[in-house]
Amino acid sequence: MSFHSLGLIDQLTRTLETLAYKNPTAVQSQAIPAVLAGRDVMAAAQTGTGKTAGFALPLLQRLTMEGGGLVPNSARALVLVPTRELAEQVHTSFQAYGAGLPLRTMVAYGGVSINPQMMRLRKGVDLLVATPGRLLDLQRQNALKLNGVQMLVLDEADRMLDLGFSRELDQVFAALPKLRQTLLFSATFSEPIRALAGKLLVDPVSIET
Ligand code: AMP
Repeated sequence: MSFHSLGLIDQLTRTLETLAYKNPTAVQSQAIPAVLAGRDVMAAAQTGTGKTAGFALPLLQRLTMEGGGLVPNSARALVLVPTRELAEQVHTSFQAYGAGLPLRTMVAYGGVSINPQMMRLRKGVDLLVATPGRLLDLQRQNALKLNGVQMLVLDEADRMLDLGFSRELDQVFAALPKLRQTLLFSATFSEPIRALAGKLLVDPVSIET
């Protein structure tokens, strides 16, 4: 199995060669074709399984292929993560995998000045990686409208619930368009996570690794 046979475009497979990724991991082999096909995904995946590339590669491809241009104060794809460390890490991965693609990405989390984040959002972005609290702050300040989000990823959804983000998440979901693609990644599938999945996902592809 190669990255090319999963449907990834040459620009991405060439980048993966430079990163010395030879073969897709189990979660990548299942997630990449499903996301490229536009399906919702529910994936049980621990850190270290290659889950980040499992959602980042097909999202970057869809954002590139669909084009469409930027809308001011809007994001085409949103990746929600529980902590600022993970936000930085996931955004760095998007930058590495998306090297050379004409996409505008950004990361936003709390504990740092909101002004540079508001400035960067003015032109709009293709992809935003954010923690839930800061995302809502940006929305309240009218720096970000969530009604343009076509793709949503919840990364480490179980940790987001454990950290008490459930109310923030509900506020975010309420502002998102109903018609969108949603991917939910979680290390564990407890009852609250299943309930969240039932609420957010439409006919999802289930991935267990
Ligand atoms: P993650 O589970 O997303 O945190 O990724 C774990 C680590 O595996 C990261 O350091 C990635 O750079 C690396 N990685 C992800 N996919 C592959 C792959 N297909 N081949 C080699 N390394 C990979």
